[in-house]
Amino acid sequence: MAPNPASTENSNERTPIDFTRLTPAQADGLACVVCGADYLTVRVPHRPIGRSATGSQVFVCSPTCSGGGA
Ligand SMILES: [Zn+2]
Repeated sequence: MAPNPASTENSNERTPIDFTRLTPAQADGLACVVCGADYLTVRVPHRPIGRSATGSQVFVCSPTCSGGGA
């Protein structure tokens, strides 16, 4: 129950993804950065997890690729 100011539970940086090695689609937020699902063709819930090296927001499939976090 002690306060934990160092906690990063809500940070976007827990997922071990190398944002410098994304495909163009992934870097543009058009595909899952974990499994590579193309969001233009695959209808799957996804959520932003951060930004690529180009500054574009990138996404993961929220039910399957988000690292198991709630
Ligand atoms: Zn995925």
